Amino acid sequence: MFQKILIANRGEIALRVLRACKELGIQTVVVHSTADADAMHVRLADESVCIGPPQSRDSYLNIHQIVAACEITGADAVHPGYGFLSENAKFADILAAHNITFIGPSGDHIRIMGDKIEAKRTAKRLGIPVVPGSDGAISEEKEAKRVAAEIGYPVIIKASAGGGGRGMKVARTEADLELALQTARSEAGAAFGDDAVYIEKYLEKPRHIELQVFGDGAGRGVHFGERDCSLQRRHQKVWEEANSPALNAEERARIGGICAKAVADLGYSGAGTIEFLYEDGEFYFIEMNTRLQVEHPVTEAITGIDLVHEQIRVASGGGLSVRQEDIKFNGHAIECRINAEDPRTFTPSPGTITHFHTPGGLGIRVDSGVYSGYKIPPYYDSLIGKLIVHGRNRVECMMRLRRALDEFVVDGIKTTLPLFRDLVGNADIANGDYDIHWLEKYLAKED
Ligand code: ADP
Repeated sequence: MFQKILIANRGEIALRVLRACKELGIQTVVVHSTADADAMHVRLADESVCIGPPQSRDSYLNIHQIVAACEITGADAVHPGYGFLSENAKFADILAAHNITFIGPSGDHIRIMGDKIEAKRTAKRLGIPVVPGSDGAISEEKEAKRVAAEIGYPVIIKASAGGGGRGMKVARTEADLELALQTARSEAGAAFGDDAVYIEKYLEKPRHIELQVFGDGAGRGVHFGERDCSLQRRHQKVWEEANSPALNAEERARIGGICAKAVADLGYSGAGTIEFLYEDGEFYFIEMNTRLQVEHPVTEAITGIDLVHEQIRVASGGGLSVRQEDIKFNGHAIECRINAEDPRTFTPSPGTITHFHTPGGLGIRVDSGVYSGYKIPPYYDSLIGKLIVHGRNRVECMMRLRRALDEFVVDGIKTTLPLFRDLVGNADIANGDYDIHWLEKYLAKED
């Protein structure tokens, strides 16, 4: 087991990882920018190292500073959290070259999944169902027309290097195709420095369903069921559930089995999330994230398994602590992402939190790095906390969520809490009847 882990992140996820390390008796080092000197993760860690000015590129994304912090403090492993360097293959390679363990998969696996065309090809080879579309990059209009005619309109053009929902264009008819292809390519070139694009069938009203998987790096793989993250705004997840209200146990076991076998066959090590669009009973792979997800706590709530403990264990060579048959799903869990944003316009609302009171009681978990008097710096993501509620079934979970949202107090800044108070009383949400476009339509109606 590791002696000392350096946490290369900030905010609630740095605290989340720190808690797991403390439970396992592992010493902790955190890094921070000058803007985060007062942050909770800095206060609670055994050691902290300031790695640079507020801008992420000079601090949380500065690989050399982070490696230097490991060497100075004698850390033997790094947990990257999510965002920042968590899916940076070069970072994983550099740590390996310094004999420091990256708590995550190999640089090569990160690289494969970071390239969408390569990821899709790999998924297909491993027996994962993918969205019908081109086999690789499309450069000519003629080829695009041929593929689109074959799979049928509407189609979507996507950037191979894409991320954050950018570089995607929908073409509803052949007449739209030329422009969609050109726009997607120039957007991809400008945003990612790589203009490779591919084409696939556009699904009209899918749900976003993702499978939590784990590999031990030596040919074993398990799945921890799925999460439904269909409630999104601008491709950003807002509310997540486990399990999905749309799946039954048979479908879960079938797609879970496919995913677990895929990570085993790949020789994948650590946590991963295989994301699908789900429509009319069919799953369509869209991407794999090679890291811990923001929404992992809903999976922890229904399985009772600490996924960060599991990551640390696997990375240290201890293997998986569970077999597939040990993983049982108990009840229902929902997570609400609480952002420091206006609940209607979603413009960021940094500033000082004058009063912060979190709900409690059975089945309630709040993961947050903020406190009364904390000044939210304007430089980073606006997520200030996550409310995770667990109940014996979805109805009990929703009742408890409504009560918890009423108790939650964040004064001094705007937050997305009022949005969740509206959603919890909505009939479609109560029925679990929503797809990936539901929230955008709901918000447009409210305006
Ligand atoms: P990114 O990495 O940019 O987030 P994804 O491939 O994960 O890109 O897609 C992001 C979102 O775009 C999906 O959650 C979905 O809302 C939409 N999308 C992607 N592919 C399709 C498709 N084939 N049909 C319909 N919507 C899609």
